[in-house]
Amino acid sequence: MIFKPLLRVPALLLCALSLHAAPAAAHPAVIKLLDEAARLEPRDPAIAMVRTREALAVLDAQGAGADPDLRRRALVQRCWLQATDRLPETVRDTDAALASPLFAGWDARRAELRLCRAWALSMGQDLRQARREYEAVLSEAERLRDRALLADTLALRGEARYLDADYAPALADLQRAYDLNTELKRTDKLPFVLNSIANLYADPNVAAYDQAIRYYAQLLTADSAQGSLRTMATGLFNIAATYEQKKDYERALDFYARTMEIEAHLDLSLEHAYTQRARAATLIKMDRAQDALPLLDEALAVFERLDDADRAAQTRATRGKALRLLGRAREALVDLSRARAYFEQQDDHAFLEQIHEQRALSLEAVGDWRGAAQARAMQAEFVRSVADRLKARQLARLQVQFDTARKDEENAALFAENALRKQALDDAASIQRLQWLLIAVGGVAFIALGVMTWRQVHLSRRMRDLALSDELTRLPNRRNLLAQAQLRMDQARDDKTAMSILAIDIDHFKRINDLYGHEAGDLVLRRVAQACTSAMRSNDVIGRVGGEEFTAVLADADREVARAVGERMRAAVQALRFPDLSSELRVTISVGLAERAEHEHLFSPLAARADAALYRAKEAGRNRLEE
Ligand code: GH3
Ligand code: MG
Ligand code: MG
Repeated sequence: MIFKPLLRVPALLLCALSLHAAPAAAHPAVIKLLDEAARLEPRDPAIAMVRTREALAVLDAQGAGADPDLRRRALVQRCWLQATDRLPETVRDTDAALASPLFAGWDARRAELRLCRAWALSMGQDLRQARREYEAVLSEAERLRDRALLADTLALRGEARYLDADYAPALADLQRAYDLNTELKRTDKLPFVLNSIANLYADPNVAAYDQAIRYYAQLLTADSAQGSLRTMATGLFNIAATYEQKKDYERALDFYARTMEIEAHLDLSLEHAYTQRARAATLIKMDRAQDALPLLDEALAVFERLDDADRAAQTRATRGKALRLLGRAREALVDLSRARAYFEQQDDHAFLEQIHEQRALSLEAVGDWRGAAQARAMQAEFVRSVADRLKARQLARLQVQFDTARKDEENAALFAENALRKQALDDAASIQRLQWLLIAVGGVAFIALGVMTWRQVHLSRRMRDLALSDELTRLPNRRNLLAQAQLRMDQARDDKTAMSILAIDIDHFKRINDLYGHEAGDLVLRRVAQACTSAMRSNDVIGRVGGEEFTAVLADADREVARAVGERMRAAVQALRFPDLSSELRVTISVGLAERAEHEHLFSPLAARADAALYRAKEAGRNRLEE
């Protein structure tokens, strides 16, 4: 159900426009027209608009001599009158006025016009831009310390937020607007704010129906005292709609009837047709489709005559349902298809779910099972998206709290709901705590296990390294070298490739130890090992096989290659300098070379030949290579 959102906002704001700045004598006609417009607006906005346009025409005719403040007032007034009718011109006209020099330096009037622009934007459903504009006007009102403007802005933003289903913030705005207006004794503004609050309560997502009805009734009393029939009709309609929400259909019918009486009396045919449609919808809910049908035919005729496509489509949707219930499924489908086409084209989803449901039922009735299934699928799609929206709204609803004594009734309901929800949240929280605990315990165990495993792996790797390598030089130790050498012998024999080994011995090492000490000897050993290693290819292997003896195994190397490698080693060692020990210290090596003979598959004879060669090198004077 759609509530009539407002007691004509502009009327209330138009009253605020002051006249004192205008030199009354110079423009009595213009002032008269504008006043008349403000007075007529609640009853007949169309005539009010005509009067305002007339006032603007007079001002235009006066040209440069026209009073600028009256002009500003007329432009603001025109904006308010247009805004509710959702005219795209409103925003455009307002932009032009704001850009003109007429409003430069008139901050309060500018802000008023911008507020109207914001309202026009929210009426035109451009909610995002409207929100920005409201923010801007709010900060302007704060800057100007204009509490009346602040109150009006909050009231309108509250209404816009409500239309955007943003309930809790809407209520906060409306509450502040109500308080400010009370403080400022602006009693003429209170009905608008109260009406907005009542609309919010009547919304199915807030569902504080009794409270809403009480407000509407209260407002109605005020209206009848003022004799404003038009706003009375709005109030009656809203009460009817609220009873309909409450499923108190008899009362709803009664209030719709009273609304229509006034609308007929005032000759408001569009409003009358709209109420008629709402009354018909209630009759359908009461299983009285037969009674609803003539009302719908009548309403549809009015909307089509007045070119109100939106309401015509809405009425067709309702009539489609009535026809279906009366067993006239084929006729129902005609209405439903037209309504569907319209709302799809408008991208308006508010009615499509129901339309698809009615289509599905009608198609089933005429035996089009496939079409019905498709319509059902489309309906389900909308139900899903509506459910998602409702979920978000329900959360907002929990935050709705209106903290005055008058509001305790629904506060109690909310409180109960909050308590339930809090319980649910507490339960969820304790379950989550337990989960965290489990995760934490599991995590600690996992980490401990990880550390232990890592240490285990690390230790065993270190043990293996210790077993396989020489502590001092980090080269493979004798055992390891012999094992690798044998593997390579096998490989070379299988692949029938060449292989050579070098037996290396540091010359006069004992002297080095004697001259520089054992630690210096260790250092020399390490550096000689490095020098030899870097003289080889990376896939060759060298190991420490004795105190200052090394053996290098060169895969895929005949004696020529091996000789080259050995010579490189000899040169590298000879080139070593030991500034940290002694600038004079020079180290040399002797090298014995042996190449694997064809079919040779044991390492020890090869090693023996290399040792023999080494011996010869020593004999021949050291610092040389022999084979
Ligand atoms: P040659 O040129 O004939 O090889 O003379 P040399 O002095 O090198 O002769 P020898 O092979 O007899 O001496 C080897 C010496 O190396 C004996 C020993 O004290 C020393 N040595 C063996 N292992 C180590 C070690 O790990 N560190 C140190 N600093 N010296 C070691
Ligand atoms: Mg030696
Ligand atoms: Mg030796």
